Parts: sequence; C-alpha cells; structure tokens
Amino acid sequence: MTLLTFRFAPSPNGELHLGHAFSALLNQKLARAVGGRLLLRIEDIDTTRCSPEFEAGIFTDLRWLGLAWEQPVRRQSEHFACYETVLDRLIREDLVYPAFMSRSEIRAFITESEKRDWPRDPDGVPVYPAVDKALPAKERRRRIAEGAPFAWRLDVDAAMARVGKDLSWNEFSDESLSATRVVEARPRDWGDVIVARREIPTSYHLAVVVDDALQGVSHVVRGQDLYSATGVQRLLQELLGLPQPAYFHHRLILGPDGRKLSKSLKDTGLAVLREAGVSAHDVRRMVGL
Ligand code: GLU
Repeated sequence: MTLLTFRFAPSPNGELHLGHAFSALLNQKLARAVGGRLLLRIEDIDTTRCSPEFEAGIFTDLRWLGLAWEQPVRRQSEHFACYETVLDRLIREDLVYPAFMSRSEIRAFITESEKRDWPRDPDGVPVYPAVDKALPAKERRRRIAEGAPFAWRLDVDAAMARVGKDLSWNEFSDESLSATRVVEARPRDWGDVIVARREIPTSYHLAVVVDDALQGVSHVVRGQDLYSATGVQRLLQELLGLPQPAYFHHRLILGPDGRKLSKSLKDTGLAVLREAGVSAHDVRRMVGL
C-alpha cells in the first residue's frame, strides 16, 4: 500500500498567523493518525511579494509549533521550468489563450449598465470578458511581438469540452476522515482563470496541481477559503491526466471581529505571540486542537 501523504503549503509573503498554525497542526495530526507523510511546500511563485525572510520565519514558527517535515522542501520558485513544460502543453492543445486586458481595462470594458449583471467569480471578481479569446492568431502574434503585457488564461469552455464530462471531488465530511461526500466541481464559476503570466510561467492553480501530483499528495487538507477553487484544480488535473487527491477544507480561524485572519493582523501572528510569552501548547488550545 502506498503511504498517505499530506502537505502544508504556505506562501512566504507575510508572517504566519493562528490560521496557518491550525492548518499546519491539523495536517500533522491527521498524517500521524494514519501513519502518513507530512510535506512542507513553499509556494513562492510570486517573487515580488515573497521573500527569504518570510520563508525563514515560516521554518522558525513551524519548528516552534513542533512540526517536522521531510527534506528537501519543495520551493516552487526553483521549478519554473517544470511548470513551463506543462504550460506549453496547454498552449499547444489550444486550451489557453493570451489575455491582454489589465484589471482596469476589464473594469472599463464592463460598462455601467452591464456592471450589475456581469458574472462574478466566487471571490466577487468580474469574470474575464470573451474578447481576447476571439482574437485572430495573427493579431495575437502581433501584440505579443509588440511586447504587450498578457496572461495565459484557461479557455474554460474548450477545457470542459475536452474533458467531456461533469467533474467532482471527494471531500471528507469531518476531521475524522472516516467518510467522504462527492462535491460537484464548478470550474465555469471562475470564468477563464489565469494559468500563467508572461514573466511567471505558472499561477497558483497550475503549480498546486502539478506539485500535488508530483509529490504524491493523497490528502489535501487546507482552509475553507479554497473550497470552490478546487473546481478549477480538478479541471486542470483532468486536462493534464493527473491523479486526484481527496480533500478536506477545514474551518477558518476567525479574528476577534469574526473576520478571516490576514497576514497584516499583527496580534494573531505566531512570532508576535511567541515573543509575548505564548507557548506552542497555548497555540494548540487557542485553535481548538
Ligand atoms: N499557498 C496557499 C496559501 O498560502 C495554499 C495552497 C493550498 O493549500 O492549496 O494560501
């Protein structure tokens, strides 16, 4: 039997807070309970926002919490060539297209009257207009040759047609991981998502599915905030012929104001808590573990 594999995959673009502590500790607890592996993956594709200092902070915080993980740690920024190979395949198969509109151009394109009815993705962002998808190949080449900035977007209609079936994933019902239910994947809700940028040959979605497969991750345990993004990731897995892990999207740790914690909320940062004399044991209690 192959070993069950869990992973904690933070982005070093800020300091870890109680929400990350819960996610990491829950992965540790579940991996231990089934005698599985725990991997740590550094998701640092956004090289403008990520830094070695934040990465060092992640290691310090996790060690303090009592976490151990396998070496070597996969650092996504060291594997751009790997993602590029996968992206090239999607380009060759006509499943992505260069999208030239910036955020403000998208806003300008959606006129006042349309604004109310324009479809929005589950994060509330207007979905990408179907303009660039229709551009003739010659015009695309011309703009790229001129150095126009663009991102590679997944043609979700073409992708769904290629897959030719409805998609779903298996979601564990609770932390006991004893039962799963089938969840319908709804990648169309996101419109044509970005799968790569001109200067970074991947996106969060693409790197996650490639790495989860490459690292043999069988159990993706992460926050509820990524629940509907799983639909996009299932579609990419299917297009690329990658295995599908089972998922558990855990509760989020909320701040005193009842809102999701963010990396800028200093008072729930792990380093700040540690310096204030809070122990790793206290953190477990604070997150309900
Ligand atoms: N890197 C992502 C984050 O920091 C998590 C990715 C995942 O668990 O799939 O939110």
